[in-house]
Amino acid sequence: MHSPIADYLQEVLDTVRDDTGGEVAGYIPELAAADPDVLGMAVCTVDGRVYTAGDADIEFSIQSISKPFAYAAALTDRGFATVRAAVGVEPSGEAFNELSLEAESRRPKNPMINAGAIATHQLLVGPHATVAERFERARSFFSTLADRTLELDERVCTSELATADRNLSIAHMLRNYGIIDDDPHEVVEGYTRQCSIKVTVRDLATMGAALVNGGVHPQTGAQVVTPAVARETLAVMAAAGMYDSAGEWFTRVGIPAKSGVAGGLLGALPGQCGIGVVSPRLDRHGNSVRGIKAFHRLSDDMGMHLMESEPHGSTVLRSTTVRDGETWFALQGAVQFIGAESVLAAFQDDTTATGTLVLDLSRVDRITDVGRRMVLEGLRRFVLDGREVVLVDPDGKLPNPDLGDGTFPTVRAGTARGR
Ligand code: GLN
Repeated sequence: MHSPIADYLQEVLDTVRDDTGGEVAGYIPELAAADPDVLGMAVCTVDGRVYTAGDADIEFSIQSISKPFAYAAALTDRGFATVRAAVGVEPSGEAFNELSLEAESRRPKNPMINAGAIATHQLLVGPHATVAERFERARSFFSTLADRTLELDERVCTSELATADRNLSIAHMLRNYGIIDDDPHEVVEGYTRQCSIKVTVRDLATMGAALVNGGVHPQTGAQVVTPAVARETLAVMAAAGMYDSAGEWFTRVGIPAKSGVAGGLLGALPGQCGIGVVSPRLDRHGNSVRGIKAFHRLSDDMGMHLMESEPHGSTVLRSTTVRDGETWFALQGAVQFIGAESVLAAFQDDTTATGTLVLDLSRVDRITDVGRRMVLEGLRRFVLDGREVVLVDPDGKLPNPDLGDGTFPTVRAGTARGR
């Protein structure tokens, strides 16, 4: 069977193809020479499957889409406190190349604008790292995320460095305020090299998929960043990834994202997929015109808006039945906070003052840490009430069911499916 998903992506591209609005970035001469008609798209799922359409294997410079990944690397290398001291997490509401510093701390407002990304770049590796070491850290980390060796586009890099007055002046101001220690020329050189790493939309989708999968690479299985770093990176993308149109973007599309002036656009949908689109013509904010349109379609058609919720309530509590003097609570699906809350509410409603309580987990897919703690607390309280508690957990979804005092519920073997 030919995948309907690949066909769908192709259809999305076809519906945006005729829009020739916007302009290719002109302030970097080499980018002005780019083919404006390039159009490609890729989706990488948390299971590591990749779907592509259009120019999915054409390389372009990553530009500002390097910023969230460099931020993740800096958090990993230096820790949250050190990074936070140098750069904030507030949307700037200003263009990507404005200085946008906080009034008192003089920190750049966030790591997605140039000032914040320059400050972030100089945190890579360690305090006295060289330009080459910092660039190599970015290049090798991006390569790990893309699961292939990424290279520098020398022409784009040389071209941008020749016209980098604005970023140089930002770096000088950052040094003036003590936000960076390095020589401004060196920081801008390293940052510009980081922006000039060549990627495809397939790479972007794969890199994004690692962030939305708790930091575990969906193809290699490697833990590439901690869950905390992945979460923070996505949060900053949601708040500021689309610069001065971040609010408009998040209300309309609802997917954490980052754009680059070469026309790339990365979307990262937590728990689901990474999405890469490329189309070089940009709007006045510096975001890809057709890329944005493609994301509008995806968000609408596929229900990808993060703020969208369905009125189904919780389905974790599958059934409550009384059999042979035993009260059975059968759970199903993924047990998170609200699922566990519905279980605790059912426990609370159980007015049987005596008798054995059986918790049947045979249809449960997974229990999050908070779900586990809440369910165990419910069981502990039943035990305190003098009830016998039995667990049916053939797949071990509730490992180490310590009731908090070193005692464990009775585990009954066998599956109870069908109850
Ligand atoms: N290298 C570019 C710059 O610093 C990146 C900007 C962007 O992609 N928005 O100006």
